[in-house]
Amino acid sequence: MKKLLFLAIIITFISCGTSKKTNHVNEIVNNSYADIISHEELKKNVYQLSSDEFEGRKTGEKGQKISAKYIADQYRDMGISPPVGYDNYYQKIPHEFFKQESISSSENVVAYIRGSEKPDELLIISAHYDHLGKKGNKIYNGADDNASGTSAVLAIAKSFQKAIKEGDGPKRSILFIHFTGEEEGLYGSKYYTAHPIFPLSNTVSNLNIDMVGRIDKIHKNKPEYIYLIGADKLSSELHELSELVNNNYIGLKLDYMYNEESDPNRFYYRSDHYNFAKNNIPVIFYFNGVHEDYHKPSDTPDKINYEILTKRTQLIFYTAWEITNRENRLVVDKR
Ligand SMILES: [Zn+2]
Repeated sequence: MKKLLFLAIIITFISCGTSKKTNHVNEIVNNSYADIISHEELKKNVYQLSSDEFEGRKTGEKGQKISAKYIADQYRDMGISPPVGYDNYYQKIPHEFFKQESISSSENVVAYIRGSEKPDELLIISAHYDHLGKKGNKIYNGADDNASGTSAVLAIAKSFQKAIKEGDGPKRSILFIHFTGEEEGLYGSKYYTAHPIFPLSNTVSNLNIDMVGRIDKIHKNKPEYIYLIGADKLSSELHELSELVNNNYIGLKLDYMYNEESDPNRFYYRSDHYNFAKNNIPVIFYFNGVHEDYHKPSDTPDKINYEILTKRTQLIFYTAWEITNRENRLVVDKR
């Protein structure tokens, strides 16, 4: 850890004054915050969220409600509050908002950290927690999709809370959002961006996490990777920042295959971050790629690679740290 810190300081030192553009990691983070992101805790949460008791977390149904409470209770235990003006952690979405008559009202789960210096500027870290529920007697546990991302967001929140306790809280504010209704048509993020808790014009970025616990076929023998989608689409600074942070602290292979405009999968348009991108908010979508258990009852927690999940979560924490603490707000230079 020390070596990395030293290297980062040197890089900062060398590049200071040589260029006006931010080409170094500005804010050296105390590594002990990221170090509490542990394999064990991620595993515990993934197993719980994808247990049969949570019934596949179908939007509007019992399993989703149990999951929402499970997530909210964790924020309460960590000492992280709901957003100002909220007396609980739920942003309620009425039944009428859903196009499908069969879907009952549901909830996004939201928790808030107020920035110490620029509280009006906000970073959103998100993951959907809903999944496909049950069909007949088969439960779609959705361990990778998206108990993995849900657990990652909780772990990142805990690291920031540790920093706050040590008097080192982020300069900008952070809203943690656990979206509902993603599998039914990105409803949670659609609802949030139509009824934002904080103005979208002050929302500096969205880091969205959807499926980060598995290794796809292409990377079978080189599992230290993650696909990044969207990072360079609105802000070249966000892309550069994300690369620098990875080089300084984590060293995963950042794979941009699915970021190509020509990619037929069009993942940029397919998860919750897109509702932010549409509003000119720079996003990064973190994704492990597709696998044979995608949207099947066989997406179970025993198939998650918890070592890699831990590294990916740490990468997102460091990226969030840099976005919330660097001097300037991310510049949007592309549309
Ligand atoms: Zn998903």
